Amino acid sequence: MPRIEINEKYCKGCLLCIPVCPFDSIEVSKSLSAYGIHIAAFKKDGKCTGCKNCATVCPDMAIEIFKD
Ligand code: SF4
Ligand code: SF4
Repeated sequence: MPRIEINEKYCKGCLLCIPVCPFDSIEVSKSLSAYGIHIAAFKKDGKCTGCKNCATVCPDMAIEIFKD
């Protein structure tokens, strides 16, 4: 099943990726990143089709999609 990974080093927490996911699979992380911000996180039970909406809208290229 496809999934995404969000690179903590690149994500600035703008959260633009959350509303564009058709499955509501991205949320605000509960813990702080190393830079002290709440970044985006793929939900544990999140569904993903690899549609790329999130990666396309991300201004910092922080989202990588895996289709394995
Ligand atoms: S759009 Fe990119 S930079 Fe913004 S919260 Fe999502 S992953 Fe982070
Ligand atoms: S690739 Fe599409 S389905 Fe998967 S998390 Fe991103 S927006 Fe959601």
